[in-house]
Amino acid sequence: MKKVMIVFPHPDDESFACGGTLAKCQDHGQQTCLLCITSGCKGRSGPFEIDCREKLARHREQELGKAAEVLGINRLDLFRYPDGSLVHADREELIAKILAAIIDWKPNVVVTFPPDGVTGHPDHIVTCEATTIAVERAEQQLTLAEYPDLYYVSIPHYYDHCPDRGPKAAVPITGKVDITLYRTQKGEALRAHQSQVYSVNRAYPGVIDGDFGVIGCYEYYTLVRSAGKVVEPVAANGIPLIEL
Ligand SMILES: [Zn+2]
Repeated sequence: MKKVMIVFPHPDDESFACGGTLAKCQDHGQQTCLLCITSGCKGRSGPFEIDCREKLARHREQELGKAAEVLGINRLDLFRYPDGSLVHADREELIAKILAAIIDWKPNVVVTFPPDGVTGHPDHIVTCEATTIAVERAEQQLTLAEYPDLYYVSIPHYYDHCPDRGPKAAVPITGKVDITLYRTQKGEALRAHQSQVYSVNRAYPGVIDGDFGVIGCYEYYTLVRSAGKVVEPVAANGIPLIEL
């Protein structure tokens, strides 16, 4: 059974981008691992009175723990970098941490943000760069059979309910996972991030209050590296169904 590792900078990215896929993997007996790079200690705290970043970080880690439980994530690694700081972080150190987790856990699939970060958030973009390099370097220490496939995740409907728009997508989507049976788990995982009510309401209005009607039946991916080679993503006529 395949092992799927996802690498994201913030608590909640995992539920926004691939919550349904993670729940599906768990249901199909696959192992899942989440590397969460920052503690998500910046920004608003929703309904909670949280006066310092350290407390907000701990709070968001608890919320992430709940979401991980809902999604059946088997391994959760917290790197605890400060939120919003990744452009200033030691890039080699970050790559080394992701690389070490890949070598240790040996995933068949690694998923991260695309080069546009979906939303253009600098932490998302740095995470894409560092994870891509870590996957390339991991190949020097793994056998060909152990090389993970690298996918970028897209959220094409992220801005459906927003007045603004994100950056132009950097890569075409090449596959979609049917999450019809896992929309409730995705909704409950998003709901676990109560302090992120502002962000959840932006992309998924209603979900915080338990109405999961806006959650679609697919999550979207682009295969960009396989068997040690770059895969040039080509936009297909109609996006084919895939499983990670
Ligand atoms: Zn994020």
